[in-house]
Amino acid sequence: MNEAILSSNKEQIVNSKCSSKSYNNLCNQVSITQDINPVDIKIPNSLNIQSTNLKGNDKQHIYCLFPEEILQVLDMGIESLKSNHRQFITKKQNSALGFRSKQIYSWLYSKYTTSFDVMSNISKADRYRLNSIFSISNLNIKHIEQSSDGTKKYLFQTGDNLFFESVLILMKDRVVDDCGKVLKSEKYTFCLSSQIGCKIGCTFCSTAKGGFVRNLTSGEIVEQVVFLKRDNGLDSNKSVNIVFMGMGEPLDNLNNVVRAIKIISHKDGLNIATRRQTISTSGIVPQIAKLADMNLDVQIALSLHAVDDSLRDRLMPINKSWNIAQVLESLRNFPIRSRNKILFEYLMLHNVNDSLDHAKKLVSLLNGFRAKVNLIPFNPHSESEFERPSRERLKLFADYLYKKGIVATIRESRGLDISAACGQLRQKVINGGTLQNKPTNI
Ligand code: SF4
Repeated sequence: MNEAILSSNKEQIVNSKCSSKSYNNLCNQVSITQDINPVDIKIPNSLNIQSTNLKGNDKQHIYCLFPEEILQVLDMGIESLKSNHRQFITKKQNSALGFRSKQIYSWLYSKYTTSFDVMSNISKADRYRLNSIFSISNLNIKHIEQSSDGTKKYLFQTGDNLFFESVLILMKDRVVDDCGKVLKSEKYTFCLSSQIGCKIGCTFCSTAKGGFVRNLTSGEIVEQVVFLKRDNGLDSNKSVNIVFMGMGEPLDNLNNVVRAIKIISHKDGLNIATRRQTISTSGIVPQIAKLADMNLDVQIALSLHAVDDSLRDRLMPINKSWNIAQVLESLRNFPIRSRNKILFEYLMLHNVNDSLDHAKKLVSLLNGFRAKVNLIPFNPHSESEFERPSRERLKLFADYLYKKGIVATIRESRGLDISAACGQLRQKVINGGTLQNKPTNI
């Protein structure tokens, strides 16, 4: 067995703040030679107990967590960071815990630090302790694609060797100030994944083709935001919008998504207001009701994509569980601010759902809603049976909604020269580059 030898004395080991599971395991696994002082303790490599060259009292900071017990710090709100940290410190150190937690949060979310070692305003002993009980980063970057329009697509690799995607969408506006000076404004939207794969099985979706693998943890969701901010040099007060429209159905991973939203919006952390965060759902009615009860002040978007049940059944099998009428009913009382609207996503598929008749039915379905409709021209690819509608059909559809008083935007095509739709990049990189984008007429 590979072993490390830690010289210490037995009292220190017994008094150290091991979790009880770890301590029992430690007692079973270490061999202690009692006749030497200080005793030599053989530690199997599977334990995260590190010999240290720290001196004096610092040497008491001995922790013996198994790898699976190491805590993911990005998984924690500031209160949970405090309570988890509290288990490993003395009563005297407890008084500085609130301040220490804010310092850690600032390093993580203002400076986007990935190592405790660089937290220079925290003592060496504390950094040693933090290193032995928490880990910061759980993701590696496998691939980045950048479009000529500034859209960037990221393929992440998890600690358990799985892959998922995030997208950064950059919108550049030309703004003229009161003196006629032309200013540039840049708006960033981060499109986050909530699951690896998806159970919903929409027929137009690349993610669905890989099936469901697992939920992302809240830490993995938060880390997407931290990574995108760091990679694009966005400082902590640059506001961004968050949309949960990447891989997965966010309401099928509601607890982790909500925890991530609370961490992302915390004022001592990333401070991205909940009203800037949008959850997009395929329409899981009981989960919409749960989210509504939480009153988080997030925006909600429904992926509607069809105006009659027979087509929606075909495009989105979840419609067989909760049909259009049921899902619209569940949104009628969803809590939104008086100035906000419920978003309806409508994927435009050539000759499938893009006629004027479809537009008329859509208007009648949305009667009574403060609604905004996002018309999304389909991003065609080689494995899909669907095509992108012509610009003329898109415009006719949008104009009809507009005439009937519904705010409708054609979502500007972003990243057409890269694999910008959900699941496409993972398919392309991981499955050997077989997936190609088709040329479009827009
Ligand atoms: S479109 Fe969204 S909900 Fe539907 S299968 Fe793809 S990831 Fe899942």
